[in-house]
Amino acid sequence: MAATSILIVEDEAAIRESLREALARSGFAVEEAANVRQALEASFTTVDLVLLDLMLPDGDGLDVLAAIRRDKPFLPVILLTAKGEQADRVSGLRSGADDYIVKPFGVDELLARIEAVLRRSVDRRENEETIEVAGRTIDLARREIVQEDGSKHTIPEREFELLVYLTNHRDRTVSRDELLARVWGVDPRGLRTRSVDMAVARLRELLGDDSQNPRVIATVRGRGYMLVLSPAEAKD
Ligand code: CA
Repeated sequence: MAATSILIVEDEAAIRESLREALARSGFAVEEAANVRQALEASFTTVDLVLLDLMLPDGDGLDVLAAIRRDKPFLPVILLTAKGEQADRVSGLRSGADDYIVKPFGVDELLARIEAVLRRSVDRRENEETIEVAGRTIDLARREIVQEDGSKHTIPEREFELLVYLTNHRDRTVSRDELLARVWGVDPRGLRTRSVDMAVARLRELLGDDSQNPRVIATVRGRGYMLVLSPAEAKD
């Protein structure tokens, strides 16, 4: 089997070189691009994952992300962001990036993110292709929500995992702790975080669900969340 190939899009030569060395040491094949132009020239078909800097000398990394998503809806992308680029990070995740990491980061942390993202992308491909939820179609292959009015939205990786988990357990309420453990992969004991609620809010927005009176993802007070079955499904 060929080595897993990673494309590094990063203009700072020192960062690019240290990434190349660390990834090569871990057995990855590495391709490099120092700007938007070079990134767009890369053949995404031979790449298994992209590390994407957002601030590039000749343009915006988000344009590279958009080009990747048009070509390869599956291809995992991890954003390399600087402190203070919060807004870019959010728009990156909304545009379908799988994860992000804030510079400066440790090699171990980056390798852990890469492995997690690659693993999730394999799991996803083994899933069924579309699911119907309350009049919306979730296209698993393209990681898109098609709303009742036909409009389409790409679902960020975490929200996508959350939605798939709720879908696979749609017959019951799923607690925040269970979601933290199974979707976020963290130990929820003693952890105080709004991550789950924020991800649910983003998902409701993408689904066109009403946050005050949700029809798709219901809040079960004091217990967690539950996917609401559409009338056709509830009849079975
Ligand atoms: Ca940069």
